[in-house]
Amino acid sequence: MGRMTASSGRRVLLAAPRGYCAGVDRAVIAVEKALEQYGAPIYVRHEIVHNKYVVQTLEKKGAIFVERTEEVPPGSIVMFSAHGVAPVVHEEARQGRLATIDATCPLVTKVHKEAVRYAKEDYDILLIGHEGHEEVIGTSGEAPDHIQLVDGPEDVAKVEVRDPSKVVWLSQTTLSVDETMETVDALKTKFPGLVSPPSDDICYATQNRQLAVKQMGADAELVIVVGSRNSSNSKRLVEVAKLAGAREAHLVDFADEIDEAWLEGVTTVGVTSGASVPDVLVEQVLQWLAERGYGDVEIVKAAEESITFSLPKELRRDLREEAAALVAERGGSGTSVA
Ligand code: SF4
Repeated sequence: MGRMTASSGRRVLLAAPRGYCAGVDRAVIAVEKALEQYGAPIYVRHEIVHNKYVVQTLEKKGAIFVERTEEVPPGSIVMFSAHGVAPVVHEEARQGRLATIDATCPLVTKVHKEAVRYAKEDYDILLIGHEGHEEVIGTSGEAPDHIQLVDGPEDVAKVEVRDPSKVVWLSQTTLSVDETMETVDALKTKFPGLVSPPSDDICYATQNRQLAVKQMGADAELVIVVGSRNSSNSKRLVEVAKLAGAREAHLVDFADEIDEAWLEGVTTVGVTSGASVPDVLVEQVLQWLAERGYGDVEIVKAAEESITFSLPKELRRDLREEAAALVAERGGSGTSVA
């Protein structure tokens, strides 16, 4: 009884923080600024951040996304995505006579530096992360001879090291905190001397978004996570929501991907978004829900965020001139690479 009207207890719990983190904000602004300053095209190696809408919007403004450095014509400007790249990619760019802008998130760079340092001290580095993810490829490339990937607790059995008293674990920045600790515990059982990174590798934004979803998971029967399929931190939010008690949790890029059937018998809907998602997409989801009777929105606040990063320093230089000089220096129009 009393459940007939649109406002009969139906509500939305909206996670805070959600959406853009400082690293994504910086990377997206860097592409926009580069387009403004140097004009199109600006090549971007890999999706600048893992979000379909962001990539499509930047493409319209003149960014060209490529997967490999060799796809970029000599004398061009290429930007490296927020996920970071291996040193070999910087070398490829030099060989290809490209001016570069590095939009790697400073918190990813921090993990790269840790990898370099432990490799120098000849540690075996166990990098917890998802195989094939761009960030993991970049970090591994810093010390390929010292790093091995551990993709979850089930991978621990096959890990072998040279000296069990000289082993350290590092991780991808966008993992599930709880699952990572499970993997670390399993590694510690196997290697009691395992050293931990000097500070958290899973970044503040990933942790805070998971914390907010955990808080809403017990109360929301359905959790909608706005984010793209290739976004690691967004996918983790779906898993965390389910573990926290949500009956269902789904990832959608856009509001029109929500299935009306998900709302059946649902009083409370949780809404959040991954670190690469602009808030306009969340607003569209809230609008969609309001039209179906879920107009009351309560904020579930798990943390305050005030962190920002300054833009890549390369944006202060005349990169068109640098790129032209690189081509001239090696002679010819730059159509072939020796
Ligand atoms: S999710 Fe974390 S590591 Fe990745 S870009 Fe954002 S702040 Fe940086």
